[in-house]
Amino acid sequence: MTYYRILFGLLLLVASLSSHAALRVVTTTQDLAAIAEAVGGEQVKVESLTPGTRDPHFASAKPSMIRQVFRADLLLVIGADMEIGWLPPLLQSARNGKVQPGNPGYLDLSTGVPLLGQVSGPIDRSMGDVHAKGNPHYWLDPRNGVRMAEAIASRLSELDPAHEGEYRGRLADFKQTMASRLPHWSADLAALKGQPVIAYHKSLIYLADAFEFNIVDEVEPKPGIAPSAASLSALVARIRSDEIGLLLMEPHYERRSARYLNEQTGIGIAVLPQSVGATPEIVTYFDLFDAIVAALTSAGGA
Ligand SMILES: [Zn+2]
Repeated sequence: MTYYRILFGLLLLVASLSSHAALRVVTTTQDLAAIAEAVGGEQVKVESLTPGTRDPHFASAKPSMIRQVFRADLLLVIGADMEIGWLPPLLQSARNGKVQPGNPGYLDLSTGVPLLGQVSGPIDRSMGDVHAKGNPHYWLDPRNGVRMAEAIASRLSELDPAHEGEYRGRLADFKQTMASRLPHWSADLAALKGQPVIAYHKSLIYLADAFEFNIVDEVEPKPGIAPSAASLSALVARIRSDEIGLLLMEPHYERRSARYLNEQTGIGIAVLPQSVGATPEIVTYFDLFDAIVAALTSAGGA
């Protein structure tokens, strides 16, 4: 009888411990992790599978990542084929039913934002790294950050209804911070409005949409395809004829082409962090835009 009582007591203890345990949230990128932390607070334990210093298109599935996915209660992904090269085998190896696509522990944030750059018609390899679902770099529009935070708060509330009030409260704070910062970023970038610029990769169309500048060309002749001597000289001609003053690129791309274009035309170069964690100072989603705006203004683009 006493054994049963002890056993019952232990079961109650385990049950109460697990109801207080934080939800394990695993994200494919640090941007998702930063938003999940802002909304989840102490109710979540968040880990990103990749660091913000790397090109988010590529990752190699390490055993530590399989363990992270295996233990996850919720997996947050960018989607729109961003992780297509590395996440499916990881999901398969991790054998965690909770976070398989279609289950409540899997949340693809691309489904809740308006995607730009949808390609219609047949797609083949000659077109470069294009995605039928649309361009996956949507976290670079701060307005999409709010949509992502809303989707994460809803899913956390669904998985952990006891703390819905906390999730909703932190979401409201997130939206308020965004509402107070966005006008300042727009004001700082006012001079860039309507200006033609060149981007290295087709990754900054959301940033351009948010702050109303025009990306008229890319250094990559096709997404994911390195520039050639011929494509670079065509770009030199275009920069001169269209009087394009600024080239934007992420830190993980080669700098030789940008230096060449700068030598030939005097075009300004702004190296923009593309993710939270790209530098140690960029800890929150708001820090990311502070850093992007600072890089753009110091490059003389605004
Ligand atoms: Zn891309």
